[in-house]
Amino acid sequence: MENALHARDRAGVQDFVLLEDYRNEESFIGNLRKRFKENHIYTYIGSVLVSVNPYKDLGIYKKEFVEHYRNVNFYELPPHVFAIADTAYRLMREECCDQCILISGESGAGKTEASKKILHYLAAASYHAKQVEHVKDKLLKSNPVLEAFGNAKTNRNDNSSRFGKYMDIEFSFLGAPLGGHILNYLLEKSRVVHQNPGERNFHIFYQLVMGADDELLQKLFLRREPELYYYMNQGGSTRVNGIDDAAQFQVVKSALTVIDFTEEEEEALFTTVASVLHLGNVGFTENNGQAIIAQEKSVSSVCKLLGCPEDMLKDALTHRTIEARGDSVVSPLNRDQAIYARDALSKAVYERQFKWLVKKLNDSLENKDESGRKTLMGLLDIYGFEIFKNNSFEQFCINYCNEKLQQLFIQLTLKSEQEEYKREGIEWETIEYFNNKIICDLIEEQHKGVISVLDEECLRPGDATDLTFLDKLETTVGSHPHFLSHKLADNKTKKTLSREEFRLKHYAGDVTYKVEGFLDKNNDLLYRDLKRTMTKTSNLITKSTFPEDELTSKKRPDTAATQFKKSLSQLMQILMSKEPWYIRCIKPNDNKQSAVFDDTIVGHQVKYLGLMENLRVRRAGFAYRRPYEVFLKRYKCLCPGTWPNYQGSAKDGVEKLVNHLGYRPDDYRMGKTKLFIRLPRTLFKTEDDFQH
Ligand code: ATP
Ligand code: MG
Repeated sequence: MENALHARDRAGVQDFVLLEDYRNEESFIGNLRKRFKENHIYTYIGSVLVSVNPYKDLGIYKKEFVEHYRNVNFYELPPHVFAIADTAYRLMREECCDQCILISGESGAGKTEASKKILHYLAAASYHAKQVEHVKDKLLKSNPVLEAFGNAKTNRNDNSSRFGKYMDIEFSFLGAPLGGHILNYLLEKSRVVHQNPGERNFHIFYQLVMGADDELLQKLFLRREPELYYYMNQGGSTRVNGIDDAAQFQVVKSALTVIDFTEEEEEALFTTVASVLHLGNVGFTENNGQAIIAQEKSVSSVCKLLGCPEDMLKDALTHRTIEARGDSVVSPLNRDQAIYARDALSKAVYERQFKWLVKKLNDSLENKDESGRKTLMGLLDIYGFEIFKNNSFEQFCINYCNEKLQQLFIQLTLKSEQEEYKREGIEWETIEYFNNKIICDLIEEQHKGVISVLDEECLRPGDATDLTFLDKLETTVGSHPHFLSHKLADNKTKKTLSREEFRLKHYAGDVTYKVEGFLDKNNDLLYRDLKRTMTKTSNLITKSTFPEDELTSKKRPDTAATQFKKSLSQLMQILMSKEPWYIRCIKPNDNKQSAVFDDTIVGHQVKYLGLMENLRVRRAGFAYRRPYEVFLKRYKCLCPGTWPNYQGSAKDGVEKLVNHLGYRPDDYRMGKTKLFIRLPRTLFKTEDDFQH
């Protein structure tokens, strides 16, 4: 393996901080390209890891690599995801400080793979003992289960995560994993009922149909033909090259056992999945504007599987009870409304099942031992910024999430970095960076942000529509510099915006959102009749996820956007209390090809991820800083003035030491309490001297 001291080789520089022309985006991309061609997919910006998806097995995650990176100082070896995991793990143990690793990037960039590599590293490199092996096994086995229910084939990624995930792993003071906890965000539940051409539903549907044995299939009234089910066949790609659904089903089943699923729970899980498939096949005809169920058999399968009265479900799928002032009026649904109601039910059943599953996982991963000091390592794998041709409510939420993460990044790195220099009295040229707080406010501020306006329209009885929402936005946030709509645009910009759209100027670029569907998706309503039917089921999952008291509760549940806002704010609190590590994932092309590096596609991501700005701040700053005491303690033996006897202050000692080591004036700065070293190589040299 290459020696880190020879950082500059034909494969470019392994830390962007060393790049000569560091303000130039072309040289930035050029460096990534050069390294990518040499199969060096990792590059640092200081302590941030940039990773380019190789789309091929590089053999760099084997056991030897785990050993190689274990207990080695960060900058001594070539950049690697294991170096991040190792450093974070060691810091957590040595300084008893919670850590978190934040992984971001577009769909297909390699976030989930990176998070799995980290988990594997932690499992392999952390404290070994018989009693923790089971915990490690559970942590690792939670992945295939969550992926089966939350991942799907999309046109961008054959294994795309359709939910955001944050996982805390709890360690003992010895560094042994004790348990974990998972938080999940925004499952893309519309996928349950609709898939675009070339895409699929969540993996579990195909795994079940292809992998269940004949007996189970029969019990679930299913046939081994995914093409037969409307919720599986819309994308026209029920089978995917490189995905073995049947084999994966066995993996999931054995993982369920490890995470403490009883046979009964496992059966309930597959029964719920099957019932969603049958629901999807319930078709309707129409007579005099009234929906009539066309596939009685599918309804009856659902009822047998979930254990609910057949008449009740049939009624609930074709009628709606409206309660007003103590009276209730039953009115029939037309065909479109019935389809809408059926799909809403399927989405709700699946979404609640997913939450139930996460809760089960958490119960199984929970560390019940309260004794002793614990530290946490968090792992965040969440969707990156999305700009599509058509952007809707989902993209709005995802991009809002990315604004919040960028804000956190600013607070934790850019701002705190500058503040530290100020505190330490170090001369420092302030770096301009765009603070996106203004956009976060535009979206989330109480009473006047986009989410508040949306909620207001959702709660307003009467004639609220997506367009009245847009009107209200224009009056409330119309003058905001980051908001634009057709009505407010100048003549030139008007051409690029239709009347049903608004545009937000996000930190990563402009995104135009179509308002169609915003109210409906935010309201996320399920007709009461359907809810009531679900409360009457005997399946243990539907029964517990549709509790009776939800029917009697007077309180309106939070809207989807408000729920999301609250969960993001909770996530920010969690992350804020930890030391952050960043992994920025990039995909080299749009065709899942190995060895193809498209400069334009990479360029966009470099921009969205804010990497140039990140580098500018890093370059202007100092790569390494340590309190004088710490630095002196480690290296004092290298200088006759500080070894073996030294009585003076730590700061004076360090001054003697760096003079003796021949640091040049520009290599370092002496702060009030800390020594700052500009480039990592200065420190390598000293560390090298120390080792010999
Ligand atoms: P999404 O947002 O859609 O979930 P993602 O960023 O999580 O996307 P991954 O699922 O991690 O993307 O990666 C997509 C695919 O790219 C993987 O299935 C794998 O084939 C390939 N890949 C990603 N990272 C690596 C890697 N380090 N080495 C080899 N192949 C990789
Ligand atoms: Mg993923």
